[in-house]
Amino acid sequence: MTTRPFGRGRPTGTVDVVVVGAGHSGLAMSRYLSRRAIEHVVLERGEVANSWRHERWSSLRLLTPNWQSRLPGYAYDGADPDGFMTMPEVVDFVAGFARFIAAPVRTGVTVTSVLATDDGYLVETDRGAWRCRAVVLASGAHGLANLPAFAACVPDSVQTLTTKQYRHADQLDPRGVLVVGASASGVQLADEIARSGREVTLCVGEHIRMLRTYRGLDIQRWLDALGILDERYDTVDDVVRARRVPSPQLIGTPERTTLDLNALTERGVKLVGRLAAIHDGRAQFSGALANHCAMADLKLGRLLDSIDRWIAEHPAHPVAVLAGERPADPAERFAATRVAANPPLTLDLTRSRIGTILWATGFRPDLHWLQLPVFDHKGRLRHDGGVVDAPGIYVLGLNFMRRRKSSFIHGAEHDVLDLGEHLATYLRQGVVPPARRAVG
Ligand SMILES: Cc1cc2nc3c(=O)[nH]c(=O)nc-3n(C[C@H](O)[C@H](O)[C@H](O)COP(=O)(O)OP(=O)(O)OC[C@H]3O[C@@H](n4cnc5c(N)ncnc54)[C@H](O)[C@@H]3O)c2cc1C
Repeated sequence: MTTRPFGRGRPTGTVDVVVVGAGHSGLAMSRYLSRRAIEHVVLERGEVANSWRHERWSSLRLLTPNWQSRLPGYAYDGADPDGFMTMPEVVDFVAGFARFIAAPVRTGVTVTSVLATDDGYLVETDRGAWRCRAVVLASGAHGLANLPAFAACVPDSVQTLTTKQYRHADQLDPRGVLVVGASASGVQLADEIARSGREVTLCVGEHIRMLRTYRGLDIQRWLDALGILDERYDTVDDVVRARRVPSPQLIGTPERTTLDLNALTERGVKLVGRLAAIHDGRAQFSGALANHCAMADLKLGRLLDSIDRWIAEHPAHPVAVLAGERPADPAERFAATRVAANPPLTLDLTRSRIGTILWATGFRPDLHWLQLPVFDHKGRLRHDGGVVDAPGIYVLGLNFMRRRKSSFIHGAEHDVLDLGEHLATYLRQGVVPPARRAVG
């Protein structure tokens, strides 16, 4: 790595690869590059594991069990493999990995632009610029909140915030809360806020119902054994749609609680359909609540059927054997989601007791600094399984990017192997190899 004055006279360097972001994805790529002796630097605007430190609510725990928390050459080795990490524990885990691999991280450095040059890229930051041949975008999938256009129509009397801004229920107005979105974050926060004594109304669109445990084992154990999390992006019919599927309704608690819509109803949470519009201070909900719930029940039933089939076909598999040793609860089934006969279709936000709208409507990456023609007409990054549509540019950590598990901590390992190999070939040959050659 060379360091010399450059550009605006501030310190700078020349490396083969600049990795943007020191979350687990950027660090996993750093480990791959170090092992291949590829010169690189990891630029991080905050600290290592910044998102886990500063962008999550206080009570959050991972919904993936500790045994699943693994990064290349590094895994959870504590006494509670079936437990769920708190946020400080996740920060320790990711920061421990950075130390373990001696990652060349520059903290407090914000990337402000990436521009193409004759021989590669110029990465400008608030603390100098870097020249490189390749850039890995590991800046996270949750930069910008997906808010509907009508979010601007919320009356002034109602506070609004996103799940990234929410820390704990005490920061909310004492009146009721409309939680928009019933993915993992939406159901977890609807539950927490209802426990604080506030009235909660949850807007439910398409969602993925999930049990925490099935036949005595954590559902992640089954998804892992059946290979569902390893499913590849180039084997599904409609990857654009698959990438939009919301996260499953799961929560990680020491009690291994299942948090579905029935559990929320029992806690007093009111269910309404998807928030479709806000007009003249009135929220309008879709009438498809019952359909969405029936569809989620059906899909959960299909998943459990496929687990049962798999057990019958693989009786000697260690996971099937382990399940067989658990107290007999063979093929338990679940109650259908209970939905009111006529859930309200509108709600007057000015007259009702709603004090807060919490947007749990998902996020998208913030890549405004990437000054390259790599975005489609909807502003989405054009990439093939993480190989971006510009030579030497790669992305990590996006939903179902290469595999169903791509956005999870344990998903980085295989993606980094594939993309790291692609990147190394590109640096060696100077031409872009086919994106799908590296099949993991
Ligand atoms: C609420 C929530 C719960 C989750 N729960 C789980 C779970 O239970 N299990 C699981 O496996 N996964 C979970 N995930 C998914 C995933 O593991 C996290 O989103 C993870 O943080 C993604 O890692 P990453 O390295 O891709 O991105 P991030 O961790 O977001 O890291 C990106 C880094 O890039 C930095 N950065 C961004 N822009 C710039 C810039 N311009 N210049 C320099 N640096 C920049 C950021 O500061 C950040 O440190 C969860 C996600 C969320 C939001």
